[in-house]
Amino acid sequence: MKKAIILLSGGLDSVVAMGFPQNEYKIEMALTFNYGQKAVENEIKAAANICEFYGVPHKVIELDWLRDISHTSLVSSKKDIPISNLGTVESAKAVWIPNRNGLFLNIAAAFADSFDYDYILYGGNKEEGETFPDNTEEFRGQISKVFETSTLNKPKVIAPLINYTKNDIVKIAQENNMPINLIWSCYNSGKYHCGVCESCCHLKNALKVNHIEARIKFEK
Ligand SMILES: [Zn+2]
Repeated sequence: MKKAIILLSGGLDSVVAMGFPQNEYKIEMALTFNYGQKAVENEIKAAANICEFYGVPHKVIELDWLRDISHTSLVSSKKDIPISNLGTVESAKAVWIPNRNGLFLNIAAAFADSFDYDYILYGGNKEEGETFPDNTEEFRGQISKVFETSTLNKPKVIAPLINYTKNDIVKIAQENNMPINLIWSCYNSGKYHCGVCESCCHLKNALKVNHIEARIKFEK
C-alpha cells in the first residue's frame, strides 16, 4: 500500500478528498495551515475532528508571514468577506491568497520527501477550478511534474475530485457516510456557517440538490 499526505482545510472539498473511496494508498498525515484566515479556529477544529474520525495524524503549520502579505478579505480585518453576489473572477480576487495551493503543496512535498509519502492529495475540483487557477487539472499536472525534479522521492499530486462539481462532491460524501456535519467551509468565523459568503452559498446549494440541508446549520 502506498503512503499519502493530504492538505486538509476542514472544508467540504478537502474532507471528501480525504474520505474518497480508493484502495491505492493510505493517508498517513494531514496538514492544516494557519495563515491568519478569519475562519482559522473553526477550520483547525474541523480538520482535527475529521482526522480523529479517520484515524489520521494531524499537523497545523503556522505561516504568519503569509498573513502579513495577504491583503484580501479572507485575512484582512479591514475588509468584510463579500456576500455572494459577485461574478466568479471578482469573487476569486476578493478571497485570493498569494500562491496558496502552490505553496501548501510545496510544503507537503517537503514532508513527502522527508517521510517518503508517495502521494500528495488536495481538494482541487471542477467547480473551484472555474474560479481559481490553482484548482485546475493543468495546475495539478504541472506541480506534480515539478516534484519529479525538486524532490528525491518524486511524490505525485492527486486531486480525487478534479472532475467533480459541488453537487457531485456532496453526493460522494453522502454515499460514503462521510461526517459532513463536522466540516467548516465558511470564509467567516462564528458558531454556525454564515450562509451568505461565496463558499457557504455553493455548499448550501449542493446540500439542497442532494436533499440533505439539515446536515449543516447556517446563520442565514
Ligand atoms: Zn460563509
